[in-house]
Amino acid sequence: MPANPRPNYLNRSLADGVAAVGFRKWYERELLSGHAHLVLMLLATLGMLGSIEAFAGGDWLDKTIDAVMFVASAAIAVWGMRRYLYLLMRAEHIANQANCPQCKEYGRLTVEADHSQSGKTRVRCKACGHRWDIHEQ
Ligand SMILES: [Zn+2]
Repeated sequence: MPANPRPNYLNRSLADGVAAVGFRKWYERELLSGHAHLVLMLLATLGMLGSIEAFAGGDWLDKTIDAVMFVASAAIAVWGMRRYLYLLMRAEHIANQANCPQCKEYGRLTVEADHSQSGKTRVRCKACGHRWDIHEQ
């Protein structure tokens, strides 16, 4: 994937996350955040179904409000699904590169240099000191 020149402000960079809480906690939080968006998507789907059911009764104003609620719920559901897929795919993509190429230690790394504009983060193994690049995109 090409590097994103304007990263989404909702996405914390790998370097920031690892510096704040370490790689394993960062990974765990990305997965939790992704699944929270999945729950949001399911709740928004329930909102869509409720809007359809409420559409049967009421006057034109009620029907208009139900239609607006349906569209709003659909937009939230689509956004939640996109966010869920993005967060999980990104976390898995990065986690697949978190094994040290030299000693095969998983996830024990520190950030050496943040080149998140180019989509790369230089990391160093805590076990053996080997350095390699993790591609975020
Ligand atoms: Zn190593």
